Amino acid sequence: MSFMTPPESKPLVWVDISKCKACDICVSLCPSGTLAMVQNMNSTQGKTIEVVEPDSCIGCRDCELHCPDFAIFVTERAPDIKFAKLTEESKARAIAIKNNKFNKVGA
Ligand code: SF4
Ligand code: SF4
Repeated sequence: MSFMTPPESKPLVWVDISKCKACDICVSLCPSGTLAMVQNMNSTQGKTIEVVEPDSCIGCRDCELHCPDFAIFVTERAPDIKFAKLTEESKARAIAIKNNKFNKVGA
């Protein structure tokens, strides 16, 4: 199955965790706290990326453009696609995740 094609649920951002090397780059760049690392004992690194707040994605594409493993994808802008606006809440969550060593907060 190719993850270049969005899953049927048509999320704004989605990941292929089988490719994720848990480098934290996307989480470090995400301004809206949409992404975080979560424990995953099935991965060699013990953690993988997760879209923790899918409705907060602002569509900046920083994650997709900087992922060295092509493991994260953002949907194309289109009239029927509604990305979020960057809010104080989402900015605060992004800071909290970064301060938590890129791990999901409140898990
Ligand atoms: S940048 Fe790519 S490889 Fe690194 S944590 Fe994010 S999805 Fe995984
Ligand atoms: S597109 Fe931007 S806001 Fe959305 S998950 Fe990627 S880095 Fe975060």
